[in-house]
Amino acid sequence: MTLFGGIEAGGTKFVCAVGSSPDDIRAETRFPTSKPEETINQAIAFFKEHGPVESIGIGAFGPVDPDPISDTYGYITTTPKPHWAQTDLAGPIREAFKVPVGFDTDVNGAALGEYRWGAGQGLHTFIYLTIGTGVGGGIMVNGQLLHGLIHPEVGHILIPHDETDSYAGKCPYHGDCLEGMVAGPALEARWGERAETFTPDHPAWLLEAKYLAYGLASIVCMLSPQRIIMGGGVMDQAHLFPMIRQNLIKTLNGYVHSPAILENIDQFVVPPVLGNRAGVAGAMALAEQALHA
Ligand code: ADP
Ligand code: ZN
Repeated sequence: MTLFGGIEAGGTKFVCAVGSSPDDIRAETRFPTSKPEETINQAIAFFKEHGPVESIGIGAFGPVDPDPISDTYGYITTTPKPHWAQTDLAGPIREAFKVPVGFDTDVNGAALGEYRWGAGQGLHTFIYLTIGTGVGGGIMVNGQLLHGLIHPEVGHILIPHDETDSYAGKCPYHGDCLEGMVAGPALEARWGERAETFTPDHPAWLLEAKYLAYGLASIVCMLSPQRIIMGGGVMDQAHLFPMIRQNLIKTLNGYVHSPAILENIDQFVVPPVLGNRAGVAGAMALAEQALHA
């Protein structure tokens, strides 16, 4: 059995795992994201203890440089997170183990994990969206993860601002972009309490579903995805799914003429199958991809 190493490199915590698939994890650890050298050394120590592995995948918070021919490939680039800007994350791991290292955004990793073992199986073009501390999207197009110029920044697409809504939005760059309106910190800033505490009848959810549907409508028109997978802490509010689906149908207004949307929307906007294992599974999928590259 081929063993892979996976590193889910998040802005608040790192999760490292060794296994052959998300259903066969042999060892796992998590630790807070402290300073780069300390954190990366903790990851290296874990794989030294629990390896050997054939390859390692890293799904990282960003922005990152995922371009293999760039000088800063494998770096976290312009993050506002203290100490982490311009940090080489993949390099020290590759140096320590001399195995293929796959590196991508956390959300591209999650998309690849869902493609391999979850809600993206059998599809060629879809998006994995996370609604959590931020909003991010990993995109697969024709069976390949999309990078393009750098990598997509789906969280920062601009959406119509509801005219009854006086909240200015939380994004430091754009105010009321999608992330600025729908991510967890925006909900908390606007309503004065963490979104975990809101009951399903809280007025926040009506606007949340509306804004998310605006974002999804743009994604549908631009990408023509076969499915939209929505994860992240905020989407733990399962009642949001039917609200978002209805709003999406309303926003598209019959224009995109696919039975997937008009008749089967329950299968079109879905939660991730891997759930809270999506990050680690994604990193393992990146490892597997790196081995076969
Ligand atoms: P991260 O994005 O940092 O990886 P999460 O996806 O867990 O982590 O997102 C954390 C954000 O999601 C926080 O802003 C938190 O308030 C919000 N959140 C977490 N759980 C829930 C929940 N059950 N309902 C609503 N919001 C939640
Ligand atoms: Zn923004």
